[in-house]
Amino acid sequence: MSKPSNSLHDMSVAELAAGLKARRFSALETAQHFLARAQADRSGSFLAFNPEATLAQAQASDARLAAGTGGPLEGVPLGHKDIFVTRDFVTTAGSKMLEGYRSPFDATVVTRLADAGMVTLGKLNCDEFAMGSGNENSAYGAVNNPWDTSRVPGGSSGGSAAAIAARLVPAATGTDTGGSIRQPASFCGITGIKPTYGRASRYGMIAYASSLDQGGPMARSAEDCALLLSAMCGPDPDRDSTSLDVPAEDFSAKLNDDLSGLRIGIPKEFFGEGLVADVRTAVDGALAELTRLGATLVPISLPRTELAIPVYYIIAPAEASSNLSRYDGVKFGHRAKSYSDLESMYKRSRAEGFGSEVKRRIMTGTYVLSHGYYDAYYLQAQKIRRMIAQDFKDAFGQCDVIAGPVAPTVAWEIGQNAGDPVADYLADIFTLPASLAGLPGLSVPAGFGAHNMPVGLQLIGNYFQEARLLNVAHRLQQVSDVHLRKPEGV
Ligand code: GLN
Repeated sequence: MSKPSNSLHDMSVAELAAGLKARRFSALETAQHFLARAQADRSGSFLAFNPEATLAQAQASDARLAAGTGGPLEGVPLGHKDIFVTRDFVTTAGSKMLEGYRSPFDATVVTRLADAGMVTLGKLNCDEFAMGSGNENSAYGAVNNPWDTSRVPGGSSGGSAAAIAARLVPAATGTDTGGSIRQPASFCGITGIKPTYGRASRYGMIAYASSLDQGGPMARSAEDCALLLSAMCGPDPDRDSTSLDVPAEDFSAKLNDDLSGLRIGIPKEFFGEGLVADVRTAVDGALAELTRLGATLVPISLPRTELAIPVYYIIAPAEASSNLSRYDGVKFGHRAKSYSDLESMYKRSRAEGFGSEVKRRIMTGTYVLSHGYYDAYYLQAQKIRRMIAQDFKDAFGQCDVIAGPVAPTVAWEIGQNAGDPVADYLADIFTLPASLAGLPGLSVPAGFGAHNMPVGLQLIGNYFQEARLLNVAHRLQQVSDVHLRKPEGV
């Protein structure tokens, strides 16, 4: 149960929206309060501010609140992952390639949240082009996890997760291609949901792997995520051809539904050797809580779980190699200062603009798509991707939602995996399967593991079952206070 609190930064999105509507405090003072905290922060969470734009948005919110015409989230501040393009704030995707880039338009998700009344505080750090699991691949530096500043916040939406946990923002956007909303949410002790692929428009979301990329909200509670998700989703037929023709939904409507009789599938492949004991204990604790609320645990199998890693790390780089070909030093982005001819201009601009992990993915992707290897790698991966989706289909014949860990361990030390990219890839094992199948997935705080670091419980739903996932997470948060705990010094 969310406790009312006096300081603005401890309030939930729901409390802030209610307080603003009742005019107990203004949008301007709310924006100033959060902006002061965010600008004083030294964790590396924020990449860009534009106080003038933020305060102008807040004043416009106050005018609408005074006129009684405010949206459902009028005056509530948020931060956007730097993958979403914004007209009023620089957008870099965490890359030197886009240093100082100003988009001429806002991403659809940004527009929708602004239409609901939200005020943008700034842009949040992330792995370069969302490629990574620890936010260490950002060209603008690592982000400190507020629970232990020597550790990563997770990635790629690391700035979003860290800023929420540190109470610099009440909520933020994230993007999830293979786990980038769920895993940082787990590592920072907050809540995040990746909706069904196609629910939220990808227009203006800088492309990594287009068949997997999906935006979603991150906040402290499921209740708050539901408020943002309701504003974010909906068809965008003119701008994103893969956006689904499914109407926007009120994801708050079923938050309090009873869990009696809910069948939670427990995939045995998620609880094997790779899962460390402290994470398992926290996950088991949350599952036990859910059974006390009336759910039953059903053993299931997702037999191709391990194959999700090689399949994802073929498909995602393949799509990335194609998507990132647009950064050629001509249309936008970094252009080398010195070059001899057009070809050397392309080569130097890309060599200087991209970081090493991005280059590694482009090379991998180009290789698996090349003549002679296409059938052996890319086509084969596509076939297994289809089978992974089938495994979920079979599993949902036996259960209503699937639960397990988000990641095999708690957040690691900054620098620990330097020079070992595969270590990061392997840590994605539990989030990749739902991404490959296009299913919705949520991370909700389960407890604490080694070094007192947060541990998330992952909930995976069938297509369009976001409301169910949020319902399960919300009921858990009504009997548990894990999501209300604060890192020391915050
Ligand atoms: N860690 C995965 C990767 O590096 C997922 C990233 C994401 O979801 N954007 O590709």
